[in-house]
Amino acid sequence: MDEKNLYVETWGCQLNYHRSEKITGHLSNYGYKPVEKITEADLIIFNTCAVRGKSEEKVRGRIGQVKNQRKEDSILGVGGCMAQHFGVDLFSQSGGVDFVFGTSNLGEIPDLANRARQGEPVASIPKPSGFENLPVLRQSDYFAWVTIAEGCSNACSYCIVPQVRGPLRSRGPDKIIREVEQLAENGYREVQLLGQNVNAFGKDIEKGDVDFAWLLERVAATGIPRISFTTPHPADLDAETLVVMNDNPNLVRHIHLPLQSGSTRVLQIMNRNYTREEYLEIVGKARRTDPLINITTDIIVGHPGETEEDFRKTLDVINQVKYGSIYVAQFSPRPKTRSAQMDDHVPEEEKKRRLEAVLEKQEETSREYDRQFIGKTVEVLVEGEARKDNKMYGKNEFRKTVEFEGTESMAGEFRKVRLESENTGYLLNPDEGSVKNDSDHHVKPGV
Ligand code: SF4
Repeated sequence: MDEKNLYVETWGCQLNYHRSEKITGHLSNYGYKPVEKITEADLIIFNTCAVRGKSEEKVRGRIGQVKNQRKEDSILGVGGCMAQHFGVDLFSQSGGVDFVFGTSNLGEIPDLANRARQGEPVASIPKPSGFENLPVLRQSDYFAWVTIAEGCSNACSYCIVPQVRGPLRSRGPDKIIREVEQLAENGYREVQLLGQNVNAFGKDIEKGDVDFAWLLERVAATGIPRISFTTPHPADLDAETLVVMNDNPNLVRHIHLPLQSGSTRVLQIMNRNYTREEYLEIVGKARRTDPLINITTDIIVGHPGETEEDFRKTLDVINQVKYGSIYVAQFSPRPKTRSAQMDDHVPEEEKKRRLEAVLEKQEETSREYDRQFIGKTVEVLVEGEARKDNKMYGKNEFRKTVEFEGTESMAGEFRKVRLESENTGYLLNPDEGSVKNDSDHHVKPGV
């Protein structure tokens, strides 16, 4: 088999980055070797995102740009959410694309690339269905993504995901457990379970006791040192999940709970299936179970119909919850979604003002959350060298980034760090090797 060079560029969420690892893994069985320079590639894959208009603009810009960078006989394939959304129109909208594939047919890429090499643009965009179990070429040898569910069966008014990724499809639990066991055997330190609505796992399986809490408990029992997950939906977060998180020290003390809006009226317009009060009740339960738990969130400002009073309610929730961090976005209408067809759009200037107000409030409240950790010891899974100050960085069990003085050889190890400020500290036992994650290393409330 002739060896060919493969270059993959990815936009979007963790699920998409993991799909790129599957693309690389699958294509390596067909003689493709990953390269870092697009100028050396025989096959270029753009794995795209369609959640915001901005990411689409970036992909289109990049398609134009690569015309001057790629080898003359190279093939460019565009796939992922944007390709699923625009389909064959991508050929006329963006010159230079040789083939297009969807979100649930990565297995077809080698064949599509071969056909495109004959000179004819080809496209295969089936309706998203099933679950592709493909080999994975992982980027890291200590942190691994494991997809547990694809798609989403909710219908949030602003979201394009159900259209481009299809309805919820849970992966077989035995396959998930086997994959995590193998990762543990191969020395991986953290797995992150992935799903567009990760805690809806099992809702499409007709076996009474199979749900997200059930799966989490089994994944924890594999003994893999650290487990995180993203992205849960507040309406699907049950008390059992919080109990499993609290009972198993290898589960992170972090939960990402997308609020989107602090106003029940706007949540109803968005079709989010929870009220402001229900959301705050879940947060209350999580904090009663673990007072230090890091809660992070997503917020959309300026959804059609959002008044100043609604927006103030969002600021009020931020004040009450004291999130560890917030991903905030100005509402951007996505084609064929209900929100895009709504009247009463908020002016761009006003959206911008609201976005800045959220950022300001977040700065204040997340610092308050972080300050609780000063003087305490956390356990950091070291990732690499920080950009400045010659420090190393990694994530602690709350999935907060921590910097400290160390050496590159510590990457992939657990290290105990005493925090001197919100996110910097010093190694407690600089000469000690990797520590295994267990309950003794966890910060307990009040310690
Ligand atoms: S739950 Fe998340 S992925 Fe599903 S429709 Fe709503 S925003 Fe989109």
